[in-house]
Amino acid sequence: MTKTISIIVPCYNEQESIPLFYAAVEKVAATLADHRIEYIFVNDGSADESLAEMRALQAQDPEHVHYISFSRNFSKEAALYAGLQAATGDYVSVMDVDLQDPPELLPEMIHGIEVEGYDCVGTRRTTRAGEPPVRSFFAKQFYKIINRISQTEIVDGARDYRLMTRQMVNAILEMSEYNRFSKGIFSWVGFDTKYLEYKNQDRVAGQTSWSFWGLFKYSLDGIVTFSETPLAIASFVGFFSFAIALLALIFIVIRALIFGDPTSGWPSLISVILMVGGLQLLCLGIVGKYIGKIYLEVKNRPVYIVKEKK
Ligand code: UDP
Ligand code: MG
Repeated sequence: MTKTISIIVPCYNEQESIPLFYAAVEKVAATLADHRIEYIFVNDGSADESLAEMRALQAQDPEHVHYISFSRNFSKEAALYAGLQAATGDYVSVMDVDLQDPPELLPEMIHGIEVEGYDCVGTRRTTRAGEPPVRSFFAKQFYKIINRISQTEIVDGARDYRLMTRQMVNAILEMSEYNRFSKGIFSWVGFDTKYLEYKNQDRVAGQTSWSFWGLFKYSLDGIVTFSETPLAIASFVGFFSFAIALLALIFIVIRALIFGDPTSGWPSLISVILMVGGLQLLCLGIVGKYIGKIYLEVKNRPVYIVKEKK
């Protein structure tokens, strides 16, 4: 029986990559027996001709190509969610349009699910060649930190690129949260995942839409959405400084009783006040970060808004 593989392709200003991507996947699709491919391109508010490229592909291959176009740029996470909701396939894959996720791995992924019995076959880059060293360094630190403080395992170097069974996709769709962090969500739902390893590939066209600060913010969001440890650290810091202050107080009282109380220690007093004030603001900031997330979550806004769909 022919199985359908839905490929979700988030696109943000990717007019050059879209036709190249389609050609590359078609080449692989031609080698797949018993599997048909369903494309779901998601136009995430591109300002270039991406949507026109999608329309053209859809007109050319209406049976296999579908697209969803957002009313503005919502983020790759939103695009993935829209694609997962629209996918009808028995298996669902998530692939970047810039061909950094090699479609040639698809047959091996299918093998992993159908023959080896995995629920999901993901991919991991083993090198970060071609990336600025500073970015690689911070990426490494991020994985170290989040894996230490979150119960959900986030595999270092794991890409979003993966093939999943319908059962796993349905589990992911049950997670309708507004603050979406796919790396965490894929892992949180569980299921048996196998990772294929490959070397980092360069973009086929266009350029990355991630700035350093964009990634930095994204990693902080990842930590806040998948760990409560920063809150625990805030309370620990509070408790610790309280304990120190108590000891200091006892020391000062005893010293005053024994030696009298000549006025001194002005600078140290100011330092202590400033330090405690700083700590309070820091902890308040951490708490505020979580409140911000809660605020966005309870507003219950849609994750994305569709303008056009085919
Ligand atoms: N993307 C998106 N919305 C965005 C940013 C990116 O849909 O706001 C898409 C982009 O078109 C690409 C994928 O997400 O298909 C990965 O983006 P990019 O290649 O810029 O990231 P990198 O590979 O450098 O991590
Ligand atoms: Mg890319």
